Amino acid sequence: MDIADPPPSKRARKSPNLEEDITGIRAILSDEFDEDIALIKAHSCQLETKQQLQAVIQELSQKLPHFQHLKRVHDRSVLICPSSEIGESLEQHLEKFGFSEHVLRALCQGVQVVEVPERMPRLRVQYEKTLKHWPCKFHPNHYSESLRNGSNFSSAQRIFHKRMAQLLLRLSRDVNANRPVGICVDPRQPNIVSIAGTEEPASPHEHCSMLLVDFVARSQEGGATNTELPFTEDSKEVETTLRGIPKAYYDYLIKDEGYKDLTLGAERSRDCKEVNAVQGADNLAKFGPYLCTGYDVYLLQEPCLMCSMALVHSRAKRVFFLRNSDNGALATRFQLHSVRELNHHYEVFQFTTKEDEELT
Ligand SMILES: [Zn+2]
Repeated sequence: MDIADPPPSKRARKSPNLEEDITGIRAILSDEFDEDIALIKAHSCQLETKQQLQAVIQELSQKLPHFQHLKRVHDRSVLICPSSEIGESLEQHLEKFGFSEHVLRALCQGVQVVEVPERMPRLRVQYEKTLKHWPCKFHPNHYSESLRNGSNFSSAQRIFHKRMAQLLLRLSRDVNANRPVGICVDPRQPNIVSIAGTEEPASPHEHCSMLLVDFVARSQEGGATNTELPFTEDSKEVETTLRGIPKAYYDYLIKDEGYKDLTLGAERSRDCKEVNAVQGADNLAKFGPYLCTGYDVYLLQEPCLMCSMALVHSRAKRVFFLRNSDNGALATRFQLHSVRELNHHYEVFQFTTKEDEELT
């Protein structure tokens, strides 16, 4: 199925007033944040006296250094090792590690199999659930919590993001024959760096994210796509460049009263020497435009795997999308942004609509 078509379920639910129906934004967090933490079985023993504790813990931490994310002792019960590691009896298993005799004896007393969290929780809500089973270590992260509860955006930022979602809908409807559209924004001003729409018929390299990345490169005097599209010419008096915005979108925006206040155009590429050494500046502020570094990308349709990867390679800062795609790689099929092995990670957000709220 082509990404240009919305999945059947969404197509049927598409509301004619979607422009007004966008209600909010939610972060698409990786499963690590969203899922309950799995439990594993572990052997524990019950110490008879507090005096045994120090010696037992000391030897355990040297010989069986498991459970770094858990408190090893809970109500005089001590975690020994995951049950899956014990092939024979516990005693035979422990004998392989050369414990001193009194510790070995203590470890084999009051043995029980308990269930413990498999890993450290990332959010408080997960942490609180793990407490029912076994006390866990937890390092609260304010930013992750704010992504989860939505407090990461100010109300002004929310209004801006929502306007971009509404703009996607309008540009798709009015300029690109209802096909997907993407907008790249430099969030500092903010200003629109480039706009692209999926072409017809669309081969994957003509999906709007692929074109968008290429049009951003045009604004930096690069770009590889051979397109027939007319682009906006730059005027010499203006400091920013409009090279990344096809003329059809530019003409639409400058005529539209509702979007007159939007700043169009990207900062021009800088000479390498012009490094802004302001402390705390990010790479975009320091070195000027480079691919999509520091830029936000707004997409009508969730990108496919190839497009999502192109956005990784182009170093996009955040990706916002409105509608799920059957072959979407950020929420529907896959969460590309949660793959640790990638050398760049963007944040992903999806706009919520009145329909989503009615469904839940
Ligand atoms: Zn694609």
